Amino acid sequence: MDRTFDLAIIGGGINGCGIARDAAGRGLSVYLCEMNDLASGTSSWSTKLVHGGLRYLEYYEFRLVREALKEREVLWSIAPHIIRPLRFVLPHRKGLRPKWLLHLGLLLYDNIGGRKRLPGHTRVDLTTAPPGRTLKHGQFTTGFEYSDCIVDDARLVTLNAMAARDLGATIETRTKAVSATRRDGIWHLEVAGTPGGGGRKTIRARALVNAAGPWVEAVLGRANGRNTKAKVRLVQGSHIVVRKLFSHDRAFILQHPDGRIVFAIPYQDDFTLIGTTDRDYTGDPASVRASAEEIAYLCESINRDFEVQIAPADVVWSFSGVRPLYDDGASEAKAATRDYVLELEGEGDRAPLLSVFGGKITTYRRLAEDALDRIATRLPAAQSALADRTKGWTASTSLPGGDFPMGGQDAVQADLAAAYSFLTPAHARRLVNTYGTLAAEILGPARSMSDLGRDFGATLTEAEVRYLMTREFAITASDIVWRRSKLGLRLSAAEIRELDTWMQGAHALVTSPGPVR
Ligand code: FAD
Repeated sequence: MDRTFDLAIIGGGINGCGIARDAAGRGLSVYLCEMNDLASGTSSWSTKLVHGGLRYLEYYEFRLVREALKEREVLWSIAPHIIRPLRFVLPHRKGLRPKWLLHLGLLLYDNIGGRKRLPGHTRVDLTTAPPGRTLKHGQFTTGFEYSDCIVDDARLVTLNAMAARDLGATIETRTKAVSATRRDGIWHLEVAGTPGGGGRKTIRARALVNAAGPWVEAVLGRANGRNTKAKVRLVQGSHIVVRKLFSHDRAFILQHPDGRIVFAIPYQDDFTLIGTTDRDYTGDPASVRASAEEIAYLCESINRDFEVQIAPADVVWSFSGVRPLYDDGASEAKAATRDYVLELEGEGDRAPLLSVFGGKITTYRRLAEDALDRIATRLPAAQSALADRTKGWTASTSLPGGDFPMGGQDAVQADLAAAYSFLTPAHARRLVNTYGTLAAEILGPARSMSDLGRDFGATLTEAEVRYLMTREFAITASDIVWRRSKLGLRLSAAEIRELDTWMQGAHALVTSPGPVR
């Protein structure tokens, strides 16, 4: 590549892709490399909440909670297909946090974050309300209900990458940043293809962003002239998925006697998602797995409060991720700040390097704005593009497929079902909850299921796979069944293998997503 980009970004998680979208939309030329698949790091291993973080109030993280609460409705409005409001039931348990404290915390939660559409908290009589029947009989009489949102985290990353690409950014997956050196006021970033990616080459850029999540320090070690004071604290969190434990539409936030909280969330129609844990981690972030001890802890949390009992054998899927937190010196992993820290390095006319520490899925959009504000101070050539008047556009522009009103899924689904009467309601619903208004692009002129080509199982068709390969950067079966969708919960190992074989054969025939400049 002969050109010099304004910005090169290392890392295709939510923060890297969010910065790429914002910068490309403000007219900067952007390059992003991701060493594996988009969202293959922490950004697909979250609890999937767009939330203020009720628990963080106990650690006086008011700035973070307020910013995150404000973002809930902003993100819901730009991606209403993959973000939905959810009501959480917080049962009061004798001997743990008193009722007055729960009520006070929720009053604050309702009021510090500019809530407009989401309903506020209410008191619930658990002896009569349906969620009360899920809980251990006779142990809970009162609880509180409040609002947050649930998001398809990995799809949020992909949609940001697609939007950036559609605005002119060059996004390369399976491409690892191996070294970065400054020469003549320009970054020379050497990248190399990992399996599935391209060859070795050098990318030139005026500024470099290190959004490598848990690998942020490893990448810094490869950039010369580093002078960072910030440190990352890796905190592991694991989740388990079991067949659905209740049929109502509420989620639970359960208090554990150790002071932590555990969520039990309705997931993918037929399952319950349970998590998470918090413990310091020192190994390779790529090798993190849910331990037997963590799985037992999560089962116990459910068994303490729910009438139905679960055991590790009931777990159909588990996953684990590492939070790349800013190390604020907190003694316990659960108390380490979830707020983000941006470190800008490179004085005078030295090409700037911005490193991202910490942060939440929920605050990625604001983090991107802050990152570009910081970079603007060091990139005179890009200052007009990054001027205040261009700031904030990402709050009011839909992500791909999200161009319909909040809560409008039913109408989009009805339109899709009318145009494609051969779809079952469950299939139409899945397509709308995944692709929003872009579902019709996948179905094209089809008049029957057989027009969609090969059926890979669980309503995944060749037309959808081709779309994911050409538009959404998918290369392997895992990219599709665990990140672009969660169909891995429904497909057998043999079906996933067959999909992979088909994709490897089809790859040569399918056009690559977007121009490589
Ligand atoms: P990542 O997603 O890890 O992205 C970094 C990327 O950089 C990776 O994909 C990696 O492959 C790539 N990379 C690394 N090195 C290189 C290299 N040399 N070259 C190229 N690419 C490279 N937040 C919420 O808002 N709500 C929640 O409910 C929530 N729950 C969570 C639960 C758990 C258990 C965890 C672990 C986190 C949770 N979070 C939640 C926090 C959130 O998931 C993270 O803060 C966020 O995903 C971090 O995104 P990132 O882009 O910084 O990192």
